[in-house]
Amino acid sequence: MPDTAPGPSVPTHCPYCALQCGTRLGHGTRGTVAEPSDFPVNDGRLCQKGWTAPALLDVPDRLRHPLVRDADGRLLPADWDTALDTVAARLLRIRDEHGPDALAVFGGGGLTNEKAYLLGKFARLALGTGQIDYNGRFCMSSAAAAGTAAFGLDRGLPFPVRDLGAADAILLAGANPAETMPPLMRHLEGADLIVVDPRRTRTAERAALHLQPVPGTDLALALGLLHIAVTDGWCDKEYVQRRTTGFDAAWRRAVAWWPERVERVTGVPVAEQRAAVETLGRARRAYVLTGRGAEQHSKGTDTAAAFINLALALGLPGVMGSGYGCLTGQGNGQGGREHGQKADQLPGYRMITDPAARAHVAGVWGTDPDTLPGPGRSAYELLDALGTDGGPRALLVFGSNPAVSAPHAAHVCDRLASLDLLVVADFVPSETARTADVVLPVAQWAEEEGTMTNLEGRVLRRRRLHAPPDGVRTDLEVLHGLAVRLGQSADRFPTSPRRVFEELRRASRGGKADYSGISYARLDAGEALHWPCPDTPDGDPHPGTPRLFLDRFAHPDGRARFAEVDHRDPAETPDADHPLYATTGRVLAHYQSGAQTRRVAELNDAAPGPFVEIHPDTAERAGLREGDTARVTSARGSTVARVRLVGSMRTDTVFVPFHYPGPGRANLITGTALDPRSRMPEFKVCAVRIEPGTAA
Ligand code: SF4
Repeated sequence: MPDTAPGPSVPTHCPYCALQCGTRLGHGTRGTVAEPSDFPVNDGRLCQKGWTAPALLDVPDRLRHPLVRDADGRLLPADWDTALDTVAARLLRIRDEHGPDALAVFGGGGLTNEKAYLLGKFARLALGTGQIDYNGRFCMSSAAAAGTAAFGLDRGLPFPVRDLGAADAILLAGANPAETMPPLMRHLEGADLIVVDPRRTRTAERAALHLQPVPGTDLALALGLLHIAVTDGWCDKEYVQRRTTGFDAAWRRAVAWWPERVERVTGVPVAEQRAAVETLGRARRAYVLTGRGAEQHSKGTDTAAAFINLALALGLPGVMGSGYGCLTGQGNGQGGREHGQKADQLPGYRMITDPAARAHVAGVWGTDPDTLPGPGRSAYELLDALGTDGGPRALLVFGSNPAVSAPHAAHVCDRLASLDLLVVADFVPSETARTADVVLPVAQWAEEEGTMTNLEGRVLRRRRLHAPPDGVRTDLEVLHGLAVRLGQSADRFPTSPRRVFEELRRASRGGKADYSGISYARLDAGEALHWPCPDTPDGDPHPGTPRLFLDRFAHPDGRARFAEVDHRDPAETPDADHPLYATTGRVLAHYQSGAQTRRVAELNDAAPGPFVEIHPDTAERAGLREGDTARVTSARGSTVARVRLVGSMRTDTVFVPFHYPGPGRANLITGTALDPRSRMPEFKVCAVRIEPGTAA
């Protein structure tokens, strides 16, 4: 019998993915329990992670006091004053010796809007550094760059999730929601589903059509689908003429991607390409959605742009009941990129190089815009520069575990180890925290108030069920404590989430992601508020904007832009030494680096360790059988995993999930080629060999 909450319960949201399913948290007979609420994205459902989320509150190795590394290299308990004094003194010393850009901050897409905002302000004002970026760079940055270029504004889904339920056809490129966000699947049930994925995922198994391209060739496939849309008469010429610009330039590239050439490059048969376009073309309402599989490439921005081109040619974006969207991954992946923890952005989704944006934000912060630093390094470039000449000497990590989640993880760990000071704020001793000089134990989801913004741009209230354990502080309290020790006035760094949100509203006013009309009071009254939601001092409150672009796109001329993009190979293709492709991804039971979900017994039992999926013929050639230990080796290193024989795998490809630490880290093999625009690393394809290995 599932335990239920007999008493009062608190309405809040799941701590994990960007769907942000509604839950009610309460105290059952066996401890804290979560029950699904009728929130529109989950309609009374949760996935395994959501049901078991209360277990996070009592994980056995929960951090309950700060840790400071002593002269002998031991992490020892310390009181808060000692820990914060130590951090502040060492930051000041490093800044005096090496300048403000020797200090760096690495944030996370799971932080609340309030934390993301205050972290950006802390970096630029209290530390005076431009060196701040976050793990969302590894998540949605390519789709964000492509969406901004195409539409003038990037919001993961520019329409509510529920709109998907009325679609006749949906193309999902590189997304596996049946495992990453299962409650989303019921919104896709009524549509003919077309899945583009090199693996036959659980989502692909439920699709009407599964296109299974060679890893790293999604862009060629998208160009080919556009080619067919135009040559087979599915292009909406009236829409293209009325609502877009740039079609001719995009077509100049796509015209060379005739179906047989696309089949040669991608392996997707011509008939399947045609069937996909015809299904979309015949639909009265259709969507094109991308996920990390299409985006986490050194050409991820162009790939997302090519799928947007297809959607534009079919006349979908900005039309009621149709559209393009990106399935954002992390819990606050959307809000996390709007409030200033990105290297190149200020709150309100403003560019840090824009003089007007700098003046506005500096005004809210009470400082001179000329004192605000400029753009810093992107996430991987920041990690790669740690401890180098001219690179950061100190790093503060909030809500992230780059020792597991960054590409070329062994190199990143070397860089982390080279720092003069590594500080990690977390609620568990993550792999990154264990290497830190100072660890600061912080509150987690059900112990704090705040707001999150889900994948449809809807701002949500995160509510507190109970206080954090003794010895634990909130991230806002940590930032306050450090800022004061660095010479900032206490008022500038409030510890109240509500006060931080009020300041965030002002900082976002007039920006692309305008939250100025959103308040805790409106959210607590149950209003569904999607940004942009400007304040209206002299009129009725703005109702928010659930659907963007219905009248016009956000470019000054109101038109969407086609992108002129062409296919290119991934940074690595198989050769004699590394004859296979490797691709990475997620499993149902785990989330991101697994630092949280690996600590939940039920989830860990469901997916206890690293594995590699491989076709039986490929395994046989490598001398491997089901359950063997295999070593998967790229030019950067090896990962060790149990063999899973999967007949639906491509014979040229293996798959490894990225949730596991130690020698089973998938990111020991991933590469560091970056997308030139989004600076996204190429997580989704590298060249490997596979051979029998020994268990670590
Ligand atoms: Fe939580 Fe995402 Fe699962 Fe919903 S789909 S319960 S938000 S992990």
